Amino acid sequence: MSRLTGVGVSSGRASGPVARVADPLPEPPAAPAPTDPAAEAARVRPAAEAVAERLFQRASRVDGDAKAVLETTAAMAIDPALISQAEQLVNTRALPAPRAVYEAANGFSDALRAAGGYMAERARDVQDVRDRIIAELFGMKPPGVPELDRPSILLARDLAPADTADLDPALVLALVTEEGGPTSHTAILARALGIPAVVAVRGVLGVPDLVGAIVDGDSGQVETSEEMVAVQVAERAAPGEWNGHGATADGKQVKIIANVGSGADARAAFAAGAQGIGLFRTEFCYLAADDEPSVDTQRRAYAEVLAPFADKPVVVRTLDAGADKPLAFLDMGVEPNPALGVRGLRVAFAWPDVLERQLTAIAGAAADSGAEVSVMAPMVATVDEAAWFAERVRAAGLPRAGVMIEIPAAALSAAEILDVVDFVSIGTNDLAQYVFAADRMAGALAELNDPWQPALLRLIATVGHAGRELDKPVGVCGEAASDPLLAGVLAGLGVTSLSMAAAAVPVVGAALAKHPLLTFQQAAEAALSAPTPTRARAAVHAVLGS
Ligand code: PEP
Ligand code: MG
Repeated sequence: MSRLTGVGVSSGRASGPVARVADPLPEPPAAPAPTDPAAEAARVRPAAEAVAERLFQRASRVDGDAKAVLETTAAMAIDPALISQAEQLVNTRALPAPRAVYEAANGFSDALRAAGGYMAERARDVQDVRDRIIAELFGMKPPGVPELDRPSILLARDLAPADTADLDPALVLALVTEEGGPTSHTAILARALGIPAVVAVRGVLGVPDLVGAIVDGDSGQVETSEEMVAVQVAERAAPGEWNGHGATADGKQVKIIANVGSGADARAAFAAGAQGIGLFRTEFCYLAADDEPSVDTQRRAYAEVLAPFADKPVVVRTLDAGADKPLAFLDMGVEPNPALGVRGLRVAFAWPDVLERQLTAIAGAAADSGAEVSVMAPMVATVDEAAWFAERVRAAGLPRAGVMIEIPAAALSAAEILDVVDFVSIGTNDLAQYVFAADRMAGALAELNDPWQPALLRLIATVGHAGRELDKPVGVCGEAASDPLLAGVLAGLGVTSLSMAAAAVPVVGAALAKHPLLTFQQAAEAALSAPTPTRARAAVHAVLGS
């Protein structure tokens, strides 16, 4: 087993077999010189057009970010500057067409790399276009994602946007790249698709006989262990019976709902059997937007997510901008410590009119769809903040207002907060980060961000207790909810809904249906009194007999 650390750029855990993305073709040779340079030069444009055509066709089958990325890549392939420079290189230096395309594209990508930052990450896009045109000129299959015949973790040196744009989330469990950065398209799309992703995992391509992996998109850790993966894949393949109704064996309801960031996610969640949406991360719709989207644009985007869940519960979270999810149109400037800075609801205090417009759009989308919409604020610290938010939600004509519990102060004030809102949902990703003072993106601190940490479970218990006392719903929408063993513990702690990535829905639903609530309450007691996460897991296994 080996454990490697990269940068987690898209939340969630997954395990499964690894499928490698083929490296680009080798550098094309500069010889032999073409006997007819004009005819050789004339091959460049049709090859580029064929590549663009295929990308446009793929774009026509998808929408949203994926469509935009594929169309942009297609446009790059037929960039007149790229084509004419390659043609000139054939004519002036008597290069074979593939070599000319190679050199022309490298000129562009070198310039982008030299510009640094965001521009440098676009260099990979130009190289992708280059490799596709070269493969076309050689009459070979384009490099990139292999045909997947089973759900797999994709492993690549780096992924081009066109590789990731129309990935099927049902077949791709996670993305791992040896290179890449947190603002690359790979990262943005992985987040939008709800696929866990870790980039910059140095050395992962060199691991011998790598056939399976466990990927943690929050801590950035990638473990390779054939044995463990085999067990988890088997669990995933045979989740047991789940009748689609979220409840314990004795019928105590615990809704099994999904985390989504786009219309495609919502459709996947519906197909997976989710009973609703527990967290719609609206900021995922706008990670690449330079300007605030209009109310109409927002309304359409939200309506697309709500559409599959007409008459079902959907929790829409208002923009959670800041820290690891900056939005260009809500720029807080440089902060020395962004995770502790102006983020989440704090941004709405600075721009209340942006919140107002978003609430108007959500209310419009709710009316369009017929879904049972609730609205929830991210990063709430105090009762006053919760009350401020609830007042605005109600003023916008929306019937239910809730807040996330992801700051320890909010967990400790859960009863008072529940007094002024209709529900709360625990964001265990951030709650763990703030309880343990451990950056959720830092691989080296992954053990502190383990949701089985008894200190975290004790805070969740405080919130669950407040919910029971006041008879108000308490959800969990952090990654903890997708762990089938922990799901029962959370139910035992008083949690009334579990929201997770679509892939986890049937597995968690089945795990919850295995035992009555009383057994889960005993499991929760055992976990709470354990001194360490390992002992908590072992104690719960002992109670549940698994
Ligand atoms: C969380 O913090 O647990 C959560 C669900 O919100 P996000 O992961 O979007 O910060
Ligand atoms: Mg959070």
